[in-house]
Amino acid sequence: MPIIISENTVDSDFINKVEEISGQPFHKCMQCGTCSGSCPMIEKMVLTPRSVLQMTNFGMKEKVSEANTVWLCASCHTCLVRCPRGLDLPKIMEAIRLLTLRKNQNYIEPFEIEKERIAELPPIALVSCFRKHTA
Ligand code: SF4
Ligand code: SF4
Repeated sequence: MPIIISENTVDSDFINKVEEISGQPFHKCMQCGTCSGSCPMIEKMVLTPRSVLQMTNFGMKEKVSEANTVWLCASCHTCLVRCPRGLDLPKIMEAIRLLTLRKNQNYIEPFEIEKERIAELPPIALVSCFRKHTA
């Protein structure tokens, strides 16, 4: 799918904030796709990790923020180990998540999860999920 960029889609404040929070020079990404090819969550992601890097470089805040990719990232660090540019993609994913959470917007609402479902899930998974997905 081609990425359409216009002046209206480029949010330079978003680019600067992601770079500041993550501490990663993500403009060095050469779009090789190794991260996407290595990611264990790729089948569930709307945008690939490579696309998130590309769109973040283009300041496409809305598209990146609306996709589930940064929320599904398991922070497994496989992409970090394999990236030929040494980019810490999990930190970039975290920075993008933080920009939403800092606005007090949750990705999931704990009180909306069915009680039966909570009873089935391991407590450590729930705690980890709430820490990552709620403000
Ligand atoms: S592996 Fe690194 S350089 Fe390659 S697309 Fe992913 S982030 Fe960019
Ligand atoms: S850290 Fe996230 S993006 Fe990178 S390979 Fe693991 S799940 Fe995929």
